[in-house]
Amino acid sequence: MTFDEFPFNEAIKDGLRAMNFEQPTPVQEHTIPVILAHKDVISCAQTGTGKTAAFLLPLLHNLLTDNHAENKINAIIMAPTRELAQQIDQQMEGFSYFVPISSVAVYGGNDSKAWDVQKNGLTKGADVVIATPGRLLSHINLHKIDFSGVKYLILDEADRMLDMGFFDDIMRIVKHLPADRQTVMFSATMPPKIRELAKTILISPEEIKIAISRPPDSIMQAAYICYESQKLPIIKELFSTKEPNKVIIFAGKKQKVRELALILKRNGLKAEAMHSDLEQHERDHVMHEFRNGHINILVATDIVARGIDIDDITLIINYEVPRDVEDYVHRIGRTARAEAEGMAITLVSQEEQFRFKHIEDFLEKTIYKIPVSPEIGETPAYDPKPPRGKSTNPRFKNRSRNNNNKGAYPRLKNKQHNNNNKQHSRQKHAD
Ligand code: AMP
Repeated sequence: MTFDEFPFNEAIKDGLRAMNFEQPTPVQEHTIPVILAHKDVISCAQTGTGKTAAFLLPLLHNLLTDNHAENKINAIIMAPTRELAQQIDQQMEGFSYFVPISSVAVYGGNDSKAWDVQKNGLTKGADVVIATPGRLLSHINLHKIDFSGVKYLILDEADRMLDMGFFDDIMRIVKHLPADRQTVMFSATMPPKIRELAKTILISPEEIKIAISRPPDSIMQAAYICYESQKLPIIKELFSTKEPNKVIIFAGKKQKVRELALILKRNGLKAEAMHSDLEQHERDHVMHEFRNGHINILVATDIVARGIDIDDITLIINYEVPRDVEDYVHRIGRTARAEAEGMAITLVSQEEQFRFKHIEDFLEKTIYKIPVSPEIGETPAYDPKPPRGKSTNPRFKNRSRNNNNKGAYPRLKNKQHNNNNKQHSRQKHAD
């Protein structure tokens, strides 16, 4: 189907054309009609599936066609991280270019000027508030904010918000909102705690489940089975033959992220660290430099695993096997976005083999194991066993074979990129 088949207001159709959106993605096709019908929805969708537009477009349409209260907050969109809130705000800018709807983004980590802009937007009644829960609560605690006009509440990446401990904050915010509202929830996974939240704040929701959270086939997945000490040499070798371009290396701990970025920089690579200890302006700067290609390698914690909207990432490297399958899917979902192709490589140490096998089981496929080059040395065999029964028998070791794949990762199709995040000027309440 095409977007023309939705009964969207003309101004929204103009926005869609400006953004080069022609065909809705599956999550958009299924979710948009339900939101347009003002029903509560719980939609199970991963990042990269087009979920942002799936809620922004019908929200804007509903705001335009229903009587919406001028100078009051009409809609609240909550997101777990600043990065995701920023990204929603950017898509909002694109879509609302032709639409007289104001919005304000409310997230932490910025300066006092930004705080004042947020306060203005909240107290003077921006139509749409895009917020992280903690920051919104800080404003609620300090200022008198009128929520009586709120008719729409959208929770994006609800599972992530609960993982980050935002359940109580969400409930505190919800208490301020009128009961007569439409509530829409997006979540990549549906664990029991999400169902509990849904039961508490949604009324007879329609459940939309697009697909099990599995990475798209357009992501080529591979792994190196190695010793922990071989991980760095493998990465260095990978980048020695071909200059990396838009690569994200994920590591679990901030300390590791800092170390890795430093080592790569010392090796002459354009790498930067991205983690939650950075100030907001530093994060913005790093992301900006990464987007425009001044930085080739972003070494990051999971803070950027979800929701970050850079659609020309060519390679994701998991320096460690992620803790759970969901993290794996979200991390590698940073590549191959919007129908592009990408590659994801996981470095699997002996201790991590069992965890990696779990991921393979979940994906119901065997991930290709790239042979480690002989210069790096012998590697352990892939013999995943539960942690207690790990085999240390040297028989299981194998000699690595010649590596014909050396430096082969970026052999990917050239892609056309849409610049969907053009800086449009927009009516912004708080500016
Ligand atoms: P999201 O899952 O919302 O983060 O979207 C992932 C990327 O796909 C973003 O860059 C969107 O701008 C883009 N996108 C979403 N829906 C469409 C669509 N129907 N046509 C083209 N690009 C889209």
